[in-house]
Amino acid sequence: MAFSCINPKNIEKAFTEFYQFMMNSEHFHVFFTGQDQVDALIKIQANNFYESLSMSDEDFIKNYVDLGLMHAKMQLPFEDMVSGLSMVRDNLLKNTSIDTKKIYNIVEKMECYLAKGYLVYQFEDVLNQLQLSIDNIYGAYAEENQDVVTSALTWFLHIVKNFQAEKNLEYADILTADLCPLTSKIKALDIEPELKQRILMSHTEQHSLALSMAFFFREEDYMLANFMFAKLFAITVSLSNQIGLAVSQQAIEELHYDALTGLLLRHSLETKLLNTLNQSASANQSVAMMMLDLDHFKKINDTWGHQAGDKVLEELGQLIQNNQRENDLAFRYGGEEFLLFVSNVSFDNAQSIAERIRLQVEALTIEWEGKCIPLTMSIGGVFIEGVQLGESIDAYIEKADQNLYEAKETGRNKVIMSKFKRS
Ligand code: GH3
Ligand code: MG
Ligand code: MG
Repeated sequence: MAFSCINPKNIEKAFTEFYQFMMNSEHFHVFFTGQDQVDALIKIQANNFYESLSMSDEDFIKNYVDLGLMHAKMQLPFEDMVSGLSMVRDNLLKNTSIDTKKIYNIVEKMECYLAKGYLVYQFEDVLNQLQLSIDNIYGAYAEENQDVVTSALTWFLHIVKNFQAEKNLEYADILTADLCPLTSKIKALDIEPELKQRILMSHTEQHSLALSMAFFFREEDYMLANFMFAKLFAITVSLSNQIGLAVSQQAIEELHYDALTGLLLRHSLETKLLNTLNQSASANQSVAMMMLDLDHFKKINDTWGHQAGDKVLEELGQLIQNNQRENDLAFRYGGEEFLLFVSNVSFDNAQSIAERIRLQVEALTIEWEGKCIPLTMSIGGVFIEGVQLGESIDAYIEKADQNLYEAKETGRNKVIMSKFKRS
């Protein structure tokens, strides 16, 4: 044997410092307590190294992959493993007569396959975690959102399984973010554009990390593959969380809206209106509040049927939205009653907005069974000059309501608007 001239005692010396260093790691402490246990381990590892000098490539690889796996299971940090190995290398150079080049070469190979052992462990560990997360998502999200939240994890799960099976993943297996189905799902999310952009960037990074990982894996650079894998796992979990959070926010936001008219619901009045009114007060702006109510809507239901009535409400919701500017708010206040808040407006302007809406309702042609449903609307409004912080919303609404009542009493299909008087 080529290495028979090497004294195994000297190899033991090379491993002593390494295991002393390892003993400082808390994780290692759990497994090895007494010094005699450590001494025994040093002997085993030194012997293992000695034998590996003359092993076939196949045995060498299996030996160190298994060893890496064992260390990973013991939760020994990979960086400690790498620092330890350089100690072994330096000590081997000092204490043995093995050729320098040979030492560098063999330690590099050890590092590579120990890293592969770590990777094998990570695959198992990560697959379990991913499966658990996916199961949890199925429990936590509404059915229509589950797919988009789990997509990033499911994709990663598939990739990891392929790596685990030692399949050399090609570009086409991983795809680019552009071709990935998750990209279009993210794009379809009804969320803030900036947030969406950030999520799309994470997703793009997910793909490029996977491509790098595949490259290093194919090159058998398991150290870098490990590094990429850890990053890829972190970004995948973060991506899934980001999407989950965006989807939850979207779901919460949807609770504020009425499905039929697309307008805000009355129960959101306080929060939404208070917020906007405070902004108007800070900017010392004047605003208007209007109550809009269809005339004789009961008759429409009676004549045309409830479904036709629903269609009218749907169209009306759209009409009101079309008249809304960016900072205006429109609520479905009751069955066929709407509240429109108009921000930063003059009295004349408020009046013409109300009049425009009234005319548009009158001109609306909603066909039902070949006929056109005639519609009119009465509007009561209040103009609030220079909104003041802490002023009661109820007082505004009460005044608008009084004006609506008057519009109804005095013939309907009209606008009555007055200035809010402070007592
Ligand atoms: P007025 O001109 O005085 O406002 O008369 P009106 O008939 O419009 O007023 P009233 O408040 O008496 O009737 C409102 C009707 O709106 C009664 C109710 O059946 C109907 N309604 C409320 N919500 C809905 C809905 O979601 N769909 C339909 N089709 N009808 C609704
Ligand atoms: Mg009505
Ligand atoms: Mg009504």
